[in-house]
Amino acid sequence: MTHDANCIFCKIIAGQIPSRKAYEDEELLAFHDINPWAPVHVLIIPKAHVATLSDTGPEHAAMLGRMLALAPRLMAELGVTSGYRTVINTGPDGGQEVYHLHMHVMGGPRPWLKG
Ligand code: 5GP
Ligand code: ZN
Repeated sequence: MTHDANCIFCKIIAGQIPSRKAYEDEELLAFHDINPWAPVHVLIIPKAHVATLSDTGPEHAAMLGRMLALAPRLMAELGVTSGYRTVINTGPDGGQEVYHLHMHVMGGPRPWLKG
């Protein structure tokens, strides 16, 4: 599986950096964001290193579908009943800070929007 030794999320996957995990299987990991923008804020990532959404192709379609399908299941498990946002920031103008593909899933009572 693709791994980037300098990538902070690859280090989380490898257990080299601690995280509060919300879900894990052979392909995906979900963990709580260290700097939450919402009462419940998890990041869903593929275990294989892919830098951005723009680096995905048809071969990633099933994985991307599984990332999206995990969001409602996780929010239900975490007790979010009143809705949530799903966000993928891509590239510098997309506000991406960590270059390992991740989907933010943010729920819980508003207001909580970041700056
Ligand atoms: P981006 O701006 O790239 O879409 O979002 C990156 C997210 O990763 C930010 O919300 C940030 O708080 C989160 N993050 C960065 N480093 C860590 C870390 O070491 N652990 C956790 N749990 N989240 C992190
Ligand atoms: Zn990575």
